[in-house]
Amino acid sequence: MNLQDVKTSELVKKYNFKFTKSLGQNFLVDTSVPRDIVEGAEVSDDDLVIEIGPGVGTLTAQLLNRAKRVVAIELDDKLIPILQNEIGNNPKFELIHEDALKVDFNKIIGDEENVKLVANLPYYVTTPIIIKMLKEGYNFHSLTIMIQKEVAERINAEPGHKDYGALSLLVQYYCNTEIIRKVPPQCFIPRPKVDSIVIRLDRLKEPRVRVQNEKLFFDIIRNSFNMRRKTLWNGIKNIGLSKEKLELAFEKADIDPKRRGETLSIEEFAVLADKINEEM
Ligand code: SAM
Repeated sequence: MNLQDVKTSELVKKYNFKFTKSLGQNFLVDTSVPRDIVEGAEVSDDDLVIEIGPGVGTLTAQLLNRAKRVVAIELDDKLIPILQNEIGNNPKFELIHEDALKVDFNKIIGDEENVKLVANLPYYVTTPIIIKMLKEGYNFHSLTIMIQKEVAERINAEPGHKDYGALSLLVQYYCNTEIIRKVPPQCFIPRPKVDSIVIRLDRLKEPRVRVQNEKLFFDIIRNSFNMRRKTLWNGIKNIGLSKEKLELAFEKADIDPKRRGETLSIEEFAVLADKINEEM
């Protein structure tokens, strides 16, 4: 079989595959999209590619044409025999039957240097997967993922923009972000109700800002956006400091507590977190 020509609809018909909505199953039928994902991910023959949710192998086939190895993690029992039958004999391919949220990616990565995660993610687990990949400190080069448009816009947002929030700051702390392309619902079967975006997150060698206490930094960010349109002061006042000490921390950080969280850059959050940490 020519791996460039996986015909999703034909495979769905051949195996009489029934989609499970709760598993976020929207398979790609427009062949330009997997090509653009692989291009956008800059997959080369040095790369170990990890794919989450291969479906019937539409994107997997394109990845196998370019990568050194592809390890795919699929949760749906019904897809395992299909994938084994269609691409299982490719020596570059390995299939893991597991929930991606439960996988220890270090076991897959081992001592590989060039590791890229590439996926058309099931949308119900987008944020948990991104958080897992970033916070568990895996040694990967980039994540190139297709996700819901709104989530991509939040990830990519700059201070002052309506979409800017805790998710933007979390991702931008660890990564540079680049939107690769938009993907409309008609590129999938069944069609999702939302538009999608392919975005690449390139992991920075060091986090974008240095902070004394990472947990406190993220707690402050979360609290600042818990109460949108409220002042920073109202968001952070219960962070664990007396009123006087918190006022002093704001003063030392040279940040007006009446500002709103969405106006602060990541650098300003870092300074504020350090000044609060110093008063603790
Ligand atoms: N890659 C295929 C494509 O582009 O056509 C399918 C993408 S579909 C949006 C998402 C895939 O993720 C499905 O195959 C689904 O069964 C699988 N999946 C859902 N939840 C999963 C999980 N927790 N871990 C691993 N795979 C999962």
